Amino acid sequence: MTSHLLTGIGELVTNDPSYDGSLGVLGNAALVIEAGEVAWVGPQAEAPDADTREDLGGRAVIPGFVDSHAHLVFAGDRSAEFAARMAGESYSAGGIRTTVAATRAATDEQLAAHVARHLAEMRRQGTTTVEIKSGYGLSVRDEARGLAVASQFTTETTFLGAHVVPPEYADDPAGYVDLVTGPMLEAAAPYATWVDAFCERGAFDADQSRAVLRAGMAKGLKPRLHANQLGPGPGVQLACELGLVAVDHCTHLDDADVAALAGSGTIATLLPGAEFSTRSPYPDARRLLDAGVTVALATDCNPGSSYTSSMPFCLAVAVRDMGMTPAEALWACTAGGAAALGREDVGHLGVGARAHLAVLDAPSYVHLAYRPGVPLVLDVRA
Ligand SMILES: [Zn+2]
Repeated sequence: MTSHLLTGIGELVTNDPSYDGSLGVLGNAALVIEAGEVAWVGPQAEAPDADTREDLGGRAVIPGFVDSHAHLVFAGDRSAEFAARMAGESYSAGGIRTTVAATRAATDEQLAAHVARHLAEMRRQGTTTVEIKSGYGLSVRDEARGLAVASQFTTETTFLGAHVVPPEYADDPAGYVDLVTGPMLEAAAPYATWVDAFCERGAFDADQSRAVLRAGMAKGLKPRLHANQLGPGPGVQLACELGLVAVDHCTHLDDADVAALAGSGTIATLLPGAEFSTRSPYPDARRLLDAGVTVALATDCNPGSSYTSSMPFCLAVAVRDMGMTPAEALWACTAGGAAALGREDVGHLGVGARAHLAVLDAPSYVHLAYRPGVPLVLDVRA
């Protein structure tokens, strides 16, 4: 078994709290990779011998980003809708149907090529773990094949048949929920780890969302939820009631929602790309952190409301406009995302973690927010 020693790490973010601060930062550090795992971490002066070595010239190293919320199985493009929105039209969940038509018309090969291209784009920006949702098929056949495609790329696949009611069920939403919780779930479950629903006005209400999550759980899927994105609603309370590991968006919260999150331990995954791309007010990360809620950040990469694949972009927005410190935002993009997926092997660089890391062409992780929009990720190991 060969070992590889990285030296000259000006600043190493481990997310191991036994080192300095919440990010476990080590200066002048070294790290040994063996069999794809972190085998040793510490001061460069104490680094052990290894089969090969490489000097990083004082650059910062961070854990690879964990993007715990992405809708990558789709076809088509909604740039015209974006342009119209920026010209003053408002966003509603209905635009999802445009992407559904394009996704149904695409072949499996086209969908797979599309996922691969987006994953490569994410990796160039430092992301090494990605959750991928279905939700643009909305038929038994198209949800199952979308998840089959996604499962070629990640184990973190999510069945989101309950994304929006498709046009053919517009007059029978209850019938659509029966389809999702019955034959569609049956076909999708072999390819899915998670089950999700869009609990929002214009999509699914609390009872429908609960029914979808419970049906998925009965099939062995782990539940997660889109909630409180476009307005106040019951989703966050439902997530806490069901003991979900994470609930995503959390933009419109009242005091009871914040208290429920703090009391339940359910992680709030904030998706500022959506507010950016719909020109909407951002979620208040500071309020959540001050209440003791664990916060994760993710891209929500999708062609309608958040067509960014960039975790550094989301991090910079969270620091600039959501009250997070650079350290809190980096933690939320790495360890926070891992926690939101229930993963202990990624999101940190402690001994035994997967050696998923990004080398920044900068002396400190702070540059990720300090230099927004700059491609600072020089290299990714995963
Ligand atoms: Zn989403």
